[in-house]
Amino acid sequence: MAKTIKAVIFDWAGTTVDYGCFAPVKGFIDGFKSIGINITNEMARKPMGLLKIDHTRAIAAMLPEPIPEEQILKAYEVFETTLFSNIEQHCDIKDHVLETVAALREQGIKIGSTTGYTSAMMERVLQKAEEQGYAPDFCISADRVPKGRPYPYMIWHNLMHFGISDAREAIKVGDTAADIAEGKHADCWTVGVIMGSSELGLTREEVAALSENELKDRKALVRAAYYMAGADYIIDDMNELLHVVSDINRKLDQNAARKLLTPGPLTTRHSVKHAMLTDHCTWDDTYKAITTSVMNDITHIAANDDYATVLLQGSGSYAVEAMINGLCGKNEKILFLVNGEYGKRMLTIADKSRKLYEQISFDMTQPIDIGPVEKALQEDKDIAAVVFVHCETTTGVINPLEELVKLAKAYGKKVLVDAMSSFAAYDIDMPGLDIDALASSSNKCLEGLPGLSFVIAKKTLIEESRGNSPSHSLDLYDQYQGLYAGGGKFRFTSPTNVLLALRQAIDEYHKEGGLRARRKRYRKNHQVLVQGLEKLGIRSIVAPENQSYIITTFDLGNLDFSKLYETLKSNGFIIYPGKLTSMPTFRLGNIGDVYPKDMAALVTAISECICAR
Ligand SMILES: *Cc1c(COP(=O)(O)O)cnc(C)c1O
Repeated sequence: MAKTIKAVIFDWAGTTVDYGCFAPVKGFIDGFKSIGINITNEMARKPMGLLKIDHTRAIAAMLPEPIPEEQILKAYEVFETTLFSNIEQHCDIKDHVLETVAALREQGIKIGSTTGYTSAMMERVLQKAEEQGYAPDFCISADRVPKGRPYPYMIWHNLMHFGISDAREAIKVGDTAADIAEGKHADCWTVGVIMGSSELGLTREEVAALSENELKDRKALVRAAYYMAGADYIIDDMNELLHVVSDINRKLDQNAARKLLTPGPLTTRHSVKHAMLTDHCTWDDTYKAITTSVMNDITHIAANDDYATVLLQGSGSYAVEAMINGLCGKNEKILFLVNGEYGKRMLTIADKSRKLYEQISFDMTQPIDIGPVEKALQEDKDIAAVVFVHCETTTGVINPLEELVKLAKAYGKKVLVDAMSSFAAYDIDMPGLDIDALASSSNKCLEGLPGLSFVIAKKTLIEESRGNSPSHSLDLYDQYQGLYAGGGKFRFTSPTNVLLALRQAIDEYHKEGGLRARRKRYRKNHQVLVQGLEKLGIRSIVAPENQSYIITTFDLGNLDFSKLYETLKSNGFIIYPGKLTSMPTFRLGNIGDVYPKDMAALVTAISECICAR
């Protein structure tokens, strides 16, 4: 179920206490003065947030000449003396901290903390803060962990203390780049506070003395520093933190793991989405090699090296359009066999591209019937190509691929197949059946992400298709030339991150055990679903022998779709409305990163919906 923020982990000086973070600055200046070196305020502040001995070393590293270790230790010693003498004067609680903490606690949110101060320093600070009413539930100092910031170890202690398993349920709030880095390394949400921060480095009096524009400019510099550090949120003052919490909670809810039972986009594995995190440029050799490997691997799922895969930017329909327009000559007549919305979409493509065509339409709940097709092929000698959808996702009907291809081939016709929702789930032997081309996309049974589609076609056919396409961006021949002659280079900007995800998705496909394993899982999913719903009196509208194991259309009966949708959504399932005009239906896909146990949970959720009526 949806996660929520469970803890806010605050930094101390400059964030919750010590406006402007002044306590350490004087200490560092005194410390370095004691070894005969004058440092500026800016130098003293730059590494702020680190454990103080690390901070001392970081300042030393900025000096033009290296200084010996014992000198650094001497400077640190003097720093400590100065700090201990003035730390108690720098424990003022910052604006809005007390009421914000109270409001967070009211929401059940724990208050954690981390600091670059040592435990001995914190003893004084904790006591002073408590006197003023601020006492976090947990505090750990950098000297208690093997490494302080930017390492995430202090945050880990907070998470352990609060029993939090997912760092995304915690927010780190700080006033330095080191704070943000610590939070990012821990994978928490990160928030930078501008006013009273070390990064701003001004006293209240100095702030008051600035003109409005000067202050604006100074704040913009702080904002830029937090932004560069990668902060998730940047706030002026602590009173904005509650908005941040509710905004994050909204995102966590929205991003809650839901199972999409829709046939594309579908539920994908974490590894597939994670593969998108690298930015690549299109002409880079590594990227081109990945593109080539993706095309080769796709080809070998259904064909051999007599065929080539041509990737296209765009959803599945782009590939269907490129296939029809590219592989059917200007004067070639096409026969479309239509038993669903995706078949109709091909007619629209043909109309808009002014293709010469005939069509035979069938009942949407039935597979394409061989009889009328044979009759048409006998009667109309002008027909050059037969085009149809393999699995009609509109209803879930599976068309008789083998019979249709054999028939068309017996008459010497070209065969183009929309195998969008069957590729990588059904065994399609392109060379064995002599299929000329098929179209599919990244976001169906390959379980990749939306944004890429492809045509697998006989190389000879593509090579003789030059000039067929009336479209430039969807010209299959040009795209093929670009991708193959260019060694994996897309003609136009490629969706690089989606391609990397597709590379990973193909690896996952093979890892699972390829076609056999994927088919087995989908079949089982489908079986659990259909049998479970049948027990509830919810029936599939397609006869079992014509039914694919990809998606199923169910009779909605007297159930209300939007109610069913909302209830299932709150249970973590997204379902699909029906597309039949003749009766109220709903559809359930069982492809994607979903398993029989998910199907069983879905059946339970539906049965609860029915009982609750
Ligand atoms: C998904 C799908 C398409 C392509 O639809 P897009 O929305 O363009 O991705 C085409 N045909 C079938 C059978 C499909 O299932």
